[in-house]
Amino acid sequence: MKLPFVEISQQTSRLTFSGAGWFPAEEVSCSGAPQVEILVRRKDKDVLLEGVLRFCPVLPCDRCGAAVALTLEEEFEYIFTLDEKQVEAHEVEIGDEDCVTVCLKEPVIDLGELFREQVYLAMPVKTLCSEECRGLCPECGAVLKDERCSCSKGDSDSPFAVLEKLRRKK
Ligand SMILES: [Zn+2]
Ligand SMILES: [Zn+2]
Repeated sequence: MKLPFVEISQQTSRLTFSGAGWFPAEEVSCSGAPQVEILVRRKDKDVLLEGVLRFCPVLPCDRCGAAVALTLEEEFEYIFTLDEKQVEAHEVEIGDEDCVTVCLKEPVIDLGELFREQVYLAMPVKTLCSEECRGLCPECGAVLKDERCSCSKGDSDSPFAVLEKLRRKK
């Protein structure tokens, strides 16, 4: 999925992509097809590109491992240039931290690579099935959300609780 500069006009054009080849499916499992919509136009020798990626990854809960279905949206904005000096110039003049200036060696934008990067940027640092998820019992591995195991009982009232805690510290 390469987009050469020569195919991009001065007028903004809207391109949409759904699913398929570029998505890192071996690393991120997804329900439904990912969608990307971009607006591109040429400005002098540079290309301005903005867009949005929407996809629905299914990720394991960090605490209990249950599958969590998410709906993520990542907006992005780039300026592609062949002139290295432009990169610094844009950073000074725009002052827009969300717009990234990228210097290319050839006048071709690799959309697949760009989209994949957005997937990773969109991924949450932490995934939880719920804020209250208590994860797995460290003793027996039971999912504490679904079941009650016998390891955790009697922590509070039992006169043996103190002994039990001492024992566990060893
Ligand atoms: Zn969980
Ligand atoms: Zn247990």
